[in-house]
Amino acid sequence: MDILGRALVGPVAALLAHHLPRIEASYGGPVVWELSKKLPEGFHSQYVLRSRTQPVILLRAIKRDDIFNVVVAHELMHLVLNIDGFPRAQSGAGVDPRLGLVVYNTFVDPIVYRRLTSEGVSSEPLERLQFANTIQGLFERSVHEPTPLDEANAGLWTCTFVAMLLKDGLGLSNEFERVLNGRYSSTLKRAVQLVHEVRDIGLENPDGCARAMERALERTKLQRLVLIEQGMPAPGE
Ligand SMILES: [Zn+2]
Repeated sequence: MDILGRALVGPVAALLAHHLPRIEASYGGPVVWELSKKLPEGFHSQYVLRSRTQPVILLRAIKRDDIFNVVVAHELMHLVLNIDGFPRAQSGAGVDPRLGLVVYNTFVDPIVYRRLTSEGVSSEPLERLQFANTIQGLFERSVHEPTPLDEANAGLWTCTFVAMLLKDGLGLSNEFERVLNGRYSSTLKRAVQLVHEVRDIGLENPDGCARAMERALERTKLQRLVLIEQGMPAPGE
């Protein structure tokens, strides 16, 4: 099996063969794969629902085959979670689209990773790349920690940190905490507190995941900027 002219290997090919029929039946049409140069900075891929029910997976040109495979599997699993009723989040009108994407991925990606692992697909190459990119972004550009007055930015940072802390499959969360503790300690403190709250709520089912997102928006004061919507609208709605 191939996507955009590239062969998929072993467990990712099996994953597609297993899930695509149910996904396409649920949406009432084929999943479309497109190369895109318009993805927000820092994102390799994203899925969108065109006309609300047509799933389109947008991928950046990716050189490494292992990353390409994981990214394909990752987006496919987002569609599975969407038809299972997991919530989505997106930026409100006029708000930087990255904000909604970060909130969405922060709380849904841990479930994506868990499900992929249980189906034999390791996300390690992608997780390590994201970890390296986040650290590089923070240190090489020598960005300064936003003050709580800069709400959108402080919220974006807190969610980015929460996302890293929630990835504990590879032990990267400890590494992340150690690296950030000196320089970005107040954002880290907010993020660690939020991670405790989110773990207490539990992300494993659609309800918990939606409540965790709501709690995060409340704590980061992003309620007016990011909208949460429930899982997939039925085809034809
Ligand atoms: Zn994701």
